[in-house]
Amino acid sequence: MRPLERLPDGTLRLPALSTAHSHAFQRAMRGRAQRPSRLTPTAAGMAAGDDDFWSWRDHMYALAASLTPESLHAASAAAFRELAKAGVRTVGEFHYLHHQLDGTPYEERTLLANVVIHAARREGLRIALLRVAYHDAGGAEQPAHPAQRRFADRQVDDVLRDVDALRAQWQSDPQVVIGVAPHSVRAVPPEWLTPLCDYASRGAMPFHMHVAEQQREVDQCVAQWGRRPVELLADQGVLSDRFVAVHATHLLPHEARLLGEARALACICPTTERDLGDGLPELGALRAAGVRLCTGVDSYVVVDPIEDLRALETHERLRTQTRVTFQPSDGTPAEQLWREGSLEGARACGFVDTGGSVVVRRDHPVLALVDDEYLLDAIVFGAGCSVVDRVE
Ligand SMILES: [Zn+2]
Repeated sequence: MRPLERLPDGTLRLPALSTAHSHAFQRAMRGRAQRPSRLTPTAAGMAAGDDDFWSWRDHMYALAASLTPESLHAASAAAFRELAKAGVRTVGEFHYLHHQLDGTPYEERTLLANVVIHAARREGLRIALLRVAYHDAGGAEQPAHPAQRRFADRQVDDVLRDVDALRAQWQSDPQVVIGVAPHSVRAVPPEWLTPLCDYASRGAMPFHMHVAEQQREVDQCVAQWGRRPVELLADQGVLSDRFVAVHATHLLPHEARLLGEARALACICPTTERDLGDGLPELGALRAAGVRLCTGVDSYVVVDPIEDLRALETHERLRTQTRVTFQPSDGTPAEQLWREGSLEGARACGFVDTGGSVVVRRDHPVLALVDDEYLLDAIVFGAGCSVVDRVE
């Protein structure tokens, strides 16, 4: 596939972008949680920030606790409008905000999922609503946060009932896919994984899960289950070519191989991962193992899907202190990165194509002085999403 097409009218067409991992409500956090919430004095008398993923999560939980169906719709609409303008046609919404604040389901149990789907459709996006299963609230050493009651279900059957309902409600809309998403190994017990996976397999549905975003999650998993996260998932038989490991940050080489043997995808969310200080995934190992890659906007700290796909390569350069870290068997690195940010992301969401084209004007100032041969390289390595004129 040659992604870039030149048209006689002076425009360039590229496959529409996808973002396979989104939490739309977090769009309402933009600009927050960027100041120290905890300070530690240093020897020099300065105060140093002591924040990390877990202190960021407290901010996020406070937001999650405050949302109403109306404010969730407003946040989702703002998020999806920004994605659409940036060239995105397909979003995978990892949806875990299900219930009222005290944990009581809404009278219409899938109310909040439907709010998010309607917002996406209204902004012209295709959406995979990945209905999250969430059981445990936080693990042994941490008390549950009140917001987590909004995420949690008592039984796996409650999750599957909601997935059934969503599939029935949206079956006539080809722009909506329903998927299944166990939150993570810290929030879902192993015995839930098999029924969730069996259900998703019967419907050939996308099956997404946060995997090893934080070292602490890996350590907890080893302490509790005697297995690293991907080892546990392989033992439970849930890896497949519909499995999407979100983040895949702290893996050992044999875990990358387990994902690769299953032809699973890893959804990397570079602009969020760097904001949260998650660490750098070893993309060279994932690529060498045959893991397919795609990208996600995740927390909406930044919305620039071109920056997300570019960072697959540029972060790997930082990590390895080298340049041009891979050569695909077919095409250039820029072509492969665009494929990962478009077609692979759409596939991760259960669609077979990218659903449209991004249109870029050849006379855009970003492309001045660029030879025709290097147009896609220049867009991937030199442009932000403001280069996008429209999606068709
Ligand atoms: Zn996430």
